[in-house]
Amino acid sequence: MFSGNEGDMPVNTGSKADISREKSAELYEKAKSFFPGGVNSPVRAFKSVYGTPLFIQKGDGCFVWDADGNQFIDFCGSWGPLILGHNHPKVREKVTEVMQNGMSFGAPTALENELAELIIKNNKYVEKIRFTSSGTEAVMSAIRLARGFTGRDKILKFEGCYHGHTDSLLVKAGSGLVTFGETSSAGVPKSFAQETIVIPLNDQKALTEAFEQFKGEIAAVIIEGIPANNGLLIQDQEYVNFLQQICKDNQSLLIFDEVITGFRLGFEGAAAHYGIKPDIVTYGKIIGGGLPVGMYGASAEIMAHISPDGGVYQAGTLSGNPVAMAAGIAQLSELLRSGFYKDLNNKASEFAESIQRFATARNYKLKVFHVGSIFWMAFTDKDKIQTAADIDPASMEKFKVLHRELLNRGIYFGPSGYEVGFVSAAHTKIELEKAKRAIFEALDLVFRNK
Ligand SMILES: *Cc1c(COP(=O)(O)O)cnc(C)c1O
Repeated sequence: MFSGNEGDMPVNTGSKADISREKSAELYEKAKSFFPGGVNSPVRAFKSVYGTPLFIQKGDGCFVWDADGNQFIDFCGSWGPLILGHNHPKVREKVTEVMQNGMSFGAPTALENELAELIIKNNKYVEKIRFTSSGTEAVMSAIRLARGFTGRDKILKFEGCYHGHTDSLLVKAGSGLVTFGETSSAGVPKSFAQETIVIPLNDQKALTEAFEQFKGEIAAVIIEGIPANNGLLIQDQEYVNFLQQICKDNQSLLIFDEVITGFRLGFEGAAAHYGIKPDIVTYGKIIGGGLPVGMYGASAEIMAHISPDGGVYQAGTLSGNPVAMAAGIAQLSELLRSGFYKDLNNKASEFAESIQRFATARNYKLKVFHVGSIFWMAFTDKDKIQTAADIDPASMEKFKVLHRELLNRGIYFGPSGYEVGFVSAAHTKIELEKAKRAIFEALDLVFRNK
C-alpha cells in the first residue's frame, strides 16, 4: 500500500504494448454494418479515445472481460447502475427467480409495490412515484408534469447538465448570459428549443436575470442533483440554497434529476446531500440494478396530476417490468444495509485522494474531484470546476493517452474524459491498490513531456 507517499513511486519506463483487441475489432466491423457508428449509444463508440470499442463478454464483481479475454478492473459500472458491481449474486438470484413466472404482463404485479415501498419508505423526497423504462423517459415525463401542474411552458436548464435525449433538453446555451437555448442536436425544432432557457451553473446573477426576464413563465428549473455527465461539477451549498429559494419565490418547480446521483450518494441522493427539497425528483440507473428502469416522483399533490388521476398523460408498455423491478428490489435492499454508503464512500474518497496526492507530489496538472463514490480526473490546475466553461477541451488529449495506458494495464474507464468514474461495493482494497498503481504509471506517461 502506498500510504501518503505516492510521490516516491518509481517512474515508469514507457508505454506498454497494446493488448490484443482482434475479436473486439472484428465484432465492431460487423456492428458498423448494423448500427450507426457501430453502437446503440454514441459514447460507446470510442470516438474520443484511441482504438475501437471493447466488446464485453462478461462481468463479475469489479471486473469485466472483453471478447479477446482481456480482464479489466471496471470503473464505468455500466455508466452508474452497478453500485454493487457486476453480476451481484443477490440481484442475479432474484431476477432468475422472478423470470420463472414470465417476463411481462402489461398488468400490475406485486413487485412494483415492493420496489415502490422500498423507495418511498426510505426516501423523504417522494410520496408517490411512477416507473418508466429509462432515465430519459423519467425526465421527459417530469417536465410534462411540471408544465401540466404550473400551466407554464418554459423550462430552465443549465449548460453542462445532461438529462437524457428528450427534445426540449437537447439544448445548449446561446451567446449571452441568459438566452433561449440553441438545439444541440439535428432534428430538434427551433421552436422546442425556444421553450428552454439555458444558463451557466453556479451563477446566481444569471439565475436572477432569467427569472426577471421570464417572469411568471418558467414552469420548472431542472438541474442534475450534482452535475456528473460533463465532468463532475460540484455546486456550492449556497448556490443550491439560492436556487431552491428563487424557484419558491417564483412558484416554479425545482426538478432534481438524480438519475446518476440518486441512491449513489446515499439512499436519498443529492437532495439529502444538500438538504434541499426538490418538487420533483427523477431516478434511474441504480434503481434498475442493471436492467432498464427510470422513475419520477413528487408529493402526492403534484403526482395527482398524472394520468389516470389527472390530465398529464404518460404511459409505458414495459413500465414497472417485473424482471427490472426484481433487480431493483434486490439491489436497493443491499443498499439499505447499515454502513453500506459509509464504507463505499470512504473507500472511494481514499482512492481519489491518494491519486490526488500522487499528482500533487509530482506537480502534475491534475485534480481528482469526487463526491460519494463518483470521481472525475480533470487535467487542470483549477481548485474548483463548477461550470461547463471551466473545462478546457484541450485537456482531453491527456485523457486520451491516460485511457489507452489504462486499458493496456487492465483498467477500464468510460471512453471520454468528460465522463465520471464510479467505485462500486465490489472494488476491494486489493483491486483499488492495483488500479492506483496502474493510474500512477499511466500518469507518469501522460505527463512525461509536460
Ligand atoms: C443517464 C442519465 C439520464 C438518462 O437516462 P437513460 O436511462 O440513459 O435514458 C438522464 N439524466 C441524468 C442525470 C443521467 O445521468
